[in-house]
Amino acid sequence: MSDIIHAEVLVLGGGPGGYTAAFRAADLGKQVVLVEKYPVLGGVCLNVGCIPSKALLHVAQIVHEAEHFEQHGLTFSKPEFDLDKIRSWKEGITSTLNGGLARLAKQRKVTVVQGLGKFTSANALEVTSDAGAQQITFDNAIIAAGSTATKIPPFPNDDPRLMDSTDALNIADVPKKLLVVGGGIIGLEMATVYHAMGSEISVVELMDQIIPGCDKDLVTPLHRHIKKQYKNIWLKTKVESIVAQDDGLLVTFGGDKAPEPELFDKVLVAVGRKPNGALIDADKAGVHVNEWGFIPVDKQQKTNVPHIYAIGDIVGQPMLAHKAVYEGKIAAEVTAGHKSAFDALTIPSVAYTDPEVAWMGLTENQAKEQGIAYDKGAFPWAASGRSLSLSRNEGLTKILCDPETGRILGAGMVGPNAGELVAEAVLALEMGADAEDVGLSIHAHPTLSETFAFAAEMITGTITDLY
Ligand code: FAD
Repeated sequence: MSDIIHAEVLVLGGGPGGYTAAFRAADLGKQVVLVEKYPVLGGVCLNVGCIPSKALLHVAQIVHEAEHFEQHGLTFSKPEFDLDKIRSWKEGITSTLNGGLARLAKQRKVTVVQGLGKFTSANALEVTSDAGAQQITFDNAIIAAGSTATKIPPFPNDDPRLMDSTDALNIADVPKKLLVVGGGIIGLEMATVYHAMGSEISVVELMDQIIPGCDKDLVTPLHRHIKKQYKNIWLKTKVESIVAQDDGLLVTFGGDKAPEPELFDKVLVAVGRKPNGALIDADKAGVHVNEWGFIPVDKQQKTNVPHIYAIGDIVGQPMLAHKAVYEGKIAAEVTAGHKSAFDALTIPSVAYTDPEVAWMGLTENQAKEQGIAYDKGAFPWAASGRSLSLSRNEGLTKILCDPETGRILGAGMVGPNAGELVAEAVLALEMGADAEDVGLSIHAHPTLSETFAFAAEMITGTITDLY
């Protein structure tokens, strides 16, 4: 066993929240130790989440565009997939970024300790690995231990044909028939990838729409688009059981319109993620973990133990990398005596499906539930020259604003590159822009970003009819 290491700031977990917190604390002059279970930094997002999924979605986009353009006179031969090469291209991206993070840690003299960390007291953590056990004492700790894919216990979880998102990203093969359980962002992104590679896709979702939580008018264009491509999209339907058979996984469904039991070659379960709060012996540090495994924090990311902070997926929804990064900076700054606090007005959400769906701020569903008055401008991309020149006409940009002040309250868009467009809406909301500000800002023509200005002009009345 090595000597005890002491950290002014100990960070538990090397995902986007953890490495951001570690780097920021080190930049502010703190002596930092970062503990990570795996040999590489980057966490779920970089290694088995955001980045590998977007790499595979790029493959899917190329395939879909090539197929789609046949009707416009551009024909390519049928795509052939070299899964080994695609996998190594994807892994090359993550390892480039892993290397970058290791260099950034080294430059800042952040000590990275590899192993599984568990608290032993309010000022100490033990890290175990093949090399043995390492004791670390700390003045401040930032918990950034993230989350894990939810497993449904009675399902045959040890059967390799039953996948979680990490398994699905490995693309071991392309199943002929794939069932995606969960019509949320992660499930639909992976469905996009496997469909492009040739799987017959069925999606089953418990709620009455895909991507629950997003306004229906933004989801409908996506639903219509994938309905033409996928074999089934079953809403308000539950998976009752999955039985492993030699010839596949036999799935039984429940609900008013439950389909007959069906055999699938593979099933991807994407029903959400569970925070890792219960796995770090937080109780030994006196840190409260709630019944779902989340660690409650205040606006400065402080837990109930004032020198222990928590950030990212482990503190609550939305489980998104950019939220973890934002919180990581706050926690690090507070350990350095800054008066930082969580004061972001919104955290944007993006589904990188085809078409993409993105939204931020107040949704129309929330406005209705909470009785908040709003004016709405909704611009259909069928009237956008840029969208039509991409051969896409199903998109929509919508803005909600305060009827009294005109201030932007929320916005969303669906269509190619919606995930990029939502950034302008976030900036408008954060800067307190009103619909007139947005409408009067000159947007380059022809761009998809113009649709944001047009939606604003539909609110101010400078666009009354579509031309
Ligand atoms: P994590 O990234 O989960 O990192 C936690 C780290 O802590 C891990 O490296 C883990 O090994 C380590 N750890 C845990 N316990 C211990 C311990 N006891 N000792 C040592 N180390 C420990 N978000 C987006 O914003 N955009 C996307 O496009 C997006 N796509 C996604 C796609 C998929 C398939 C998945 C699964 C997720 C996606 N997410 C996306 C969500 C995003 O990955 C997470 O929100 C983000 O990674 C959370 O960051 P974090 O730092 O809180 O935790």
